[in-house]
Amino acid sequence: MNIGREYDLAVVGLGGIGSAAAYWAARRGVATVGFEQFALGHDRGASHDHSRIIRRSYHDPVYVRLADLAYRAWDTVEAESGDIIVIRTGGLDLFPADCTIAPDDYRLALDACDVAYEWLTADEIRHRWPQFNISDDVQALFQADGGIAAAATGMAAHHRLAFEHGATLHENARVESIRETGGEVEIVVDGHAHRVGHAIIAADAWTNSLLAKPLPLTVLREQVTYFGASTPSVFSPERLPVWIWMDEPSFYGFPTFGEGATKVAQDCGGHETTADTRSFEPDAAELDRVERFTRRLFGHAVGEPLVTKTCLYTLTPDRDFVLDRVPGCMNTWVVQGAAHAYKFASALGRLLVDLAIDGNCEIDRSMFAIDRPALTDPDYAPNWMV
Ligand SMILES: Cc1cc2nc3c(=O)[nH]c(=O)nc-3n(C[C@H](O)[C@H](O)[C@H](O)COP(=O)(O)OP(=O)(O)OC[C@H]3O[C@@H](n4cnc5c(N)ncnc54)[C@H](O)[C@@H]3O)c2cc1C
Repeated sequence: MNIGREYDLAVVGLGGIGSAAAYWAARRGVATVGFEQFALGHDRGASHDHSRIIRRSYHDPVYVRLADLAYRAWDTVEAESGDIIVIRTGGLDLFPADCTIAPDDYRLALDACDVAYEWLTADEIRHRWPQFNISDDVQALFQADGGIAAAATGMAAHHRLAFEHGATLHENARVESIRETGGEVEIVVDGHAHRVGHAIIAADAWTNSLLAKPLPLTVLREQVTYFGASTPSVFSPERLPVWIWMDEPSFYGFPTFGEGATKVAQDCGGHETTADTRSFEPDAAELDRVERFTRRLFGHAVGEPLVTKTCLYTLTPDRDFVLDRVPGCMNTWVVQGAAHAYKFASALGRLLVDLAIDGNCEIDRSMFAIDRPALTDPDYAPNWMV
């Protein structure tokens, strides 16, 4: 059944980024509807669980500037919701000698954006954080604003505030198709066609199921492990920063937040899968790799693995985002977060609404174009270690 235009904007997928788009749209008075195929806050995608790393330290000034927008967007959400979403612990990027990820890219990007940081020797690292059992060749970049973004809390706040601002959010409502017709967008859910003025696709691991021409995305089934500790206080947020081991394999970790003592995971350590066929069972070999690395890094301070949770990474070949119109469309936009977007979720949601409603946004998004070589050249060699 076709009916007249029901809403100005439809958001497809109400995970970390889609929930933000629904909130920012409703907040500025846009008649907004959102569709989520599962229950709001589910654990089948990429934005659940307690924590994600938020940081200003990035390898490119575009991301450093976007991080500034991200902190400001979360400030607004915190002020309106009363929730604490960003917990600053400091961020420590650890660079062993001859590491895969170039420290100069990070230092130059922060310098280009006048963001303060410290460059530390192994002795300085061990002095400030004696928990770290590192060799003399390791140096680190410390940036004070690094920390934890409370993932599930942030997403729930977006949902709640979107409702409070008048958005209509449908859960257990899988969008079957999206097409532009007569200057509007038709969205089909459970066989019903909804007509809206504009649409935003924020479907992450399911993105290609909604695009006529699929993108070269890789979905990995990732996992994170919470460890106990013989002396839990050494892993408290006051005493341990979030950290990233900038080499291949790359690992990252968090102070105590949500459960256990410390959370550690391998970046891109998971097996390739699909969003609808992925398993929820932890991978023993990956757990073994993470446990070995964690014991090497923290020695006897870290205890037994307590719980391992799974999650989906969806990667572009160059690990840059997609923030663009769907090819051949005027009023349909797509975002894809390349498995490092939760920190930016609220800011990306706001930018998507500006793009959909105003046709522009305040950042240079040429690096996120959907027709860039990494997404169109079949011979492009993927590189996820950035
Ligand atoms: C283990 C792990 C660790 C990470 N660590 C970090 C980190 O430290 N820092 C960081 O910034 N990022 C990190 N990320 C990445 C970050 O979590 C993701 O980039 C981000 O959460 C993606 O948000 P999203 O809204 O695009 O995806 P999702 O939250 O997965 O949302 C997509 C939503 O679309 C819905 N959907 C899909 N198709 C349809 C349809 N047809 N109809 C209706 N609904 C649909 C899905 O059900 C889902 O809810 C990590 C990710 C993982 C998995």
